[in-house]
Amino acid sequence: MSFSRRSFLVGAGSGLSLLVLTACTDGKPVPTPTSSPSPTIAIPRPAGMLRSKWTTDPFSLGSHSFLAVGATPQHRDDLREPVIGRLFFAGEATSNDLPGTVLGAQNSGARAAGAVADAATMGERIAVIGAGAAGAEAARLLTLDGYNVVVIEARNRIGGRIDTRTSKSWPLSVELGAWRLGKATDAALLTRLASLGVETNPFTGTLLARPGASASTVNTVGPTAVKTATDWAAAQATDSSLKTSLERSGAAKTAAASTIDGFAGTALLDQYLASLATTNGATDSRLSSWFGIDEDVHYDRLVMGGFDALITDALDGVKTSLSTAVVGVAYSDSGVSLKLGTGESLKVDRAVVTVPLGVLQQGSIAFEPLLPFSHRAAIQALGSGAVETVWLRFDKPFWSTDAAAWNLVGTDDDFTSWINLEAVTGEPVLVGIVGGDAARRVAQLSDDQVVDSALRALVPFAGSKPHSQ
Ligand SMILES: Cc1cc2nc3c(=O)[nH]c(=O)nc-3n(C[C@H](O)[C@H](O)[C@H](O)COP(=O)(O)OP(=O)(O)OC[C@H]3O[C@@H](n4cnc5c(N)ncnc54)[C@H](O)[C@@H]3O)c2cc1C
Repeated sequence: MSFSRRSFLVGAGSGLSLLVLTACTDGKPVPTPTSSPSPTIAIPRPAGMLRSKWTTDPFSLGSHSFLAVGATPQHRDDLREPVIGRLFFAGEATSNDLPGTVLGAQNSGARAAGAVADAATMGERIAVIGAGAAGAEAARLLTLDGYNVVVIEARNRIGGRIDTRTSKSWPLSVELGAWRLGKATDAALLTRLASLGVETNPFTGTLLARPGASASTVNTVGPTAVKTATDWAAAQATDSSLKTSLERSGAAKTAAASTIDGFAGTALLDQYLASLATTNGATDSRLSSWFGIDEDVHYDRLVMGGFDALITDALDGVKTSLSTAVVGVAYSDSGVSLKLGTGESLKVDRAVVTVPLGVLQQGSIAFEPLLPFSHRAAIQALGSGAVETVWLRFDKPFWSTDAAAWNLVGTDDDFTSWINLEAVTGEPVLVGIVGGDAARRVAQLSDDQVVDSALRALVPFAGSKPHSQ
């Protein structure tokens, strides 16, 4: 089994990791965030902060779908099956080749548009529920095909989990959702962004050891342990979580017994698992050992020129109703009736449902009749992950490293993965990414608490010296 775009920050062979080794021994607790205390080493408070809250946002209720223990790729296939030729499902959770990605979502929208076209007659009225990457692509293609398309979007903006913020006080576009792409995997998307004039910046990480630590190094302990665990799991009669497989295979024990340049193996494994969680949202106690980790793809570009242009372009000229949540979908052989949060209803011939898995799991949309068992089983079995980001803008850098990716080892801080945009764009902006259980904790914090938590995690980087490889 190989490792994926999920491992973009951490893959041992990717050359993208930067380890800041904050402790040479395992299990040294660092205080968990509180509302007021400042870090012991003075780090300037940021001049600006923007954060995401995907985990609690009622129109996402999660960041990425993942294959939890008991889920299989078949569940994604089941979820995208059309229902009596009237309801069609799209969205990243229905993608088997690129789940949890913009391209996967976009491709799913194209696939659903094709399925609608196979079932519909010319001129029919089609509703697309959700104006994210999947919905925008479905709506674009159906409009091109000559259907009477209306997009119904709950939020007051389009884009879904692409959320670009621009403001005079920020020197660059802030992306609170998707913003990383892989040159190889996302070639089609990169070409489209280029044609829209959207800038993407190459992102090459470097390795760095914290001043005072023994050496800069690559975390080979984490990937090796996870590979051992998933290989062991593949030979078992039943699936188990990655956490269980790490324990039962002996991989966690082997990791604990190893060190790299004096850095404790358990801390290195924890750092690797935390980084995995920042890219798929799954905590290791839920992730399927059999199916939860996908192929080897690397993110190596950052979308810095406004990712939302992709959605704006796709929906140009498409009738779109914002701030309109769909709360009910009644379907029969004769058509589909949408119940809207405004109290109104809308009759269409067919509908494409692109709302996130978390929204389906929450039951925010009442289907009448209930969806087929296979859909309900898929919705129940798939996991909805948690990833949050915080963007911090400083007046000037308090760090002095040219490394673009920073990962903390041997810490209990929640923000263990950072991207240093100064290295990419020249602007003193740091982006913290947190996944899994840590992201769920962060989503509950106030803005001040998030800044405190982030600054605490950044202490080891204060004054760090360049150490590129
Ligand atoms: C923090 C974060 C970082 C990410 N990073 C990357 C990355 O670097 N690269 C990458 O490729 N992917 C990344 N992703 C994943 C990527 O953003 C998603 O896979 C993709 O954008 C999902 O598109 P979608 O159309 O399936 O869903 P969404 O974009 O979520 O669209 C669904 C739409 O449905 C709307 N909706 C919800 N409920 C209702 C309702 N009841 N009625 C009407 N409308 C409703 C929502 O408001 C939303 O607009 C990231 C995601 C997150 C959260």
